[in-house]
Amino acid sequence: MLVGVLALQGAFREHEKILQSCGANTRQVRLPQHLAGLDALVIPGGESTAIGKLLVKYHLLAPIKELGQKGLPVFGTCAGLILLAKKIAGANQPALQLMDIAVARNAFGRQVDSFETGLTIPALGEPDYQAVFIRAPYIISVEPGVEVMATYQNKIVLARQNNFLAAAFHPELTNDLRLHQYFLEMIIN
Ligand code: GLN
Repeated sequence: MLVGVLALQGAFREHEKILQSCGANTRQVRLPQHLAGLDALVIPGGESTAIGKLLVKYHLLAPIKELGQKGLPVFGTCAGLILLAKKIAGANQPALQLMDIAVARNAFGRQVDSFETGLTIPALGEPDYQAVFIRAPYIISVEPGVEVMATYQNKIVLARQNNFLAAAFHPELTNDLRLHQYFLEMIIN
């Protein structure tokens, strides 16, 4: 199994490590030719405006969008979630716009820049998943066809739509492999 990790900016190395711990091979994606032969793609956290601009600059925006539309499993975390959303509240920035969700950036407020909390994620079973939020977005609304997988304080923080998985938090910063394993299972199912 070969999983690409978008490596333009942000927390890509941590995703690679955890994917490798799950038994997957990984490849850093910086150029369109790095997309050939991938079984799945991770879009890490970082700064969504920066990543979006770099996606345009390196001619990755259109090919990744097309692969996603054709069914490639794509996992977006934090900034990656923002890039997957069809609507970003109050912003006009380059994005992949693959998921029928609307998101708000930096939405938990400045006073709680970063925090960690136990999340109940029924699809992963017990125990709760320890989630790290860093200047995190959340999902404001979802269209039919999007499965809400977890909420925190009534805000949607994890969702799936067919081959797309989006988390508002940073699953690569914990030792819990379950969410990456769940994503890898999406390759087969
Ligand atoms: N605040 C960032 C953004 O808007 C996301 C933060 C993150 O990925 N940790 O892109």
